Amino acid sequence: MIVLKFGGSSINSSQAIRNVADIIYSKRNRHPIVVLSACGDTTDNLLASIKAARDGEFETALASVDSIYTYHQSMAAELEIGSPWKEKFEEETGRFTAELRELLRGVSLLRDISRKSIDRIVSFGERFSTLLMMCHVNTQGIDAHLVESREFMKTTDEHTRAKPLLEESEPLIQSTFNLPEDDGNYSIPIAQGFIGSTLEGDISTLGRGGSDYTASIIGAALEAETIEIWSDVDGILTADPTIIDHARVIKEMTFREASELAYFGARVLHPDTILPAVELDIPIQIYNTRNPESDGSLIRRDFPDHQEQKVVKSIAYKEGIQVLNLTSTRMFQAHDFLRKVFEVLDRHQVVADLVSTSEVSVSIAFAKDVDPQPLIHEISKFSTVSMENRKAIVCLVGENMRAYKGLPGRIFKELENFHINMISQGASEVNLSFVIDEADIEPVVRTLHDAFFAEEEKYSQRTMVSG
Ligand code: ASP
Ligand code: MG
Repeated sequence: MIVLKFGGSSINSSQAIRNVADIIYSKRNRHPIVVLSACGDTTDNLLASIKAARDGEFETALASVDSIYTYHQSMAAELEIGSPWKEKFEEETGRFTAELRELLRGVSLLRDISRKSIDRIVSFGERFSTLLMMCHVNTQGIDAHLVESREFMKTTDEHTRAKPLLEESEPLIQSTFNLPEDDGNYSIPIAQGFIGSTLEGDISTLGRGGSDYTASIIGAALEAETIEIWSDVDGILTADPTIIDHARVIKEMTFREASELAYFGARVLHPDTILPAVELDIPIQIYNTRNPESDGSLIRRDFPDHQEQKVVKSIAYKEGIQVLNLTSTRMFQAHDFLRKVFEVLDRHQVVADLVSTSEVSVSIAFAKDVDPQPLIHEISKFSTVSMENRKAIVCLVGENMRAYKGLPGRIFKELENFHINMISQGASEVNLSFVIDEADIEPVVRTLHDAFFAEEEKYSQRTMVSG
């Protein structure tokens, strides 16, 4: 059994949907379970309709619902969905649209909306897409059925970013996807990503990009052979392709490398996605729907030929970083200085991206959307505080980095003309991160990519150490 997850851009037109259906059929004898996002930009469009309704612009909200309806209708027409699927599609999408209008009318009257209602509204994106795919696949003569994810994905009631309740969900997943032993009469299940329901039965969602999470939770509960994440890129790359146009696909990487990269901007994978799979060592394969022939990226716990892997696997960065610098001349004596600092961060729920300390100072890097004023206010009671803005974190990732002598020297020699701060090598030694000026992102990434990927063979021969 395998799980196949397709992202929104993989199903954004009738042609794209045909293409995905072909990929699904081609894997039919491996018993695929299909998980879909909403088609194209539908989730964004639903959110835009909510915003319009909340601003009291009911007509705009309605127009946006109508265009979502028309978008799916015209894809269905182009796909030439046949009876009885055509009728089913029309009836259901008619109901969806009527309910959306009702909900948005309420929002525009109240000029207010709860997170619970947001979830109800955005859930229609995945409900449209899975219905359409199910109807298309059946029209093609292949047995497929719709699975309503809210029936098996139980979540907390933290609407718009609900957390899956694995203990409750697992048995439901196992009974929902009760797969036959032979493939004689296998009906392909098509389930919505992203959507769940609370214990009270209200629709919830797992947060933006949450369909990957759905796929990996299903895969883990059923101990799938593999989880395939299909999107519109060839795989995880050696660097951001908008900076490095010749960035290469990383064919194999470990879970640890992939999760470091996910946090540092590789936009292919949702960071939490891989957690359920990590625990069970289920391989995750990233593929491109537009280029199904390419190898993609394979992510797993370990690779037997580990030593042959590259030194630096990928160079990632995160922009929009601000740095808080604290100095306490008495820190050396004050054993509780760090505790006080972290307590302040905790109280304000600030997630630090990078922390570096010395005897007398601490620097903390975090996203620019955090308001630093309350932190500064509290911390300045026991320390001197200064702020730096427009910073970025650069992160080099690779399991083999720890086996190479002199790597930091080599990296910073390359970057001798740039301002570098807060150099930090994680305890896992899978990553080496540091802070630069945001304006230097392009030249820094380029310099490092040239150094480690253009010359990598030469470099690995020169510096490989045994053990
Ligand atoms: N459709 C949802 C979103 O756009 C979930 C997903 O795509 O994974 O965020
Ligand atoms: Mg989406």
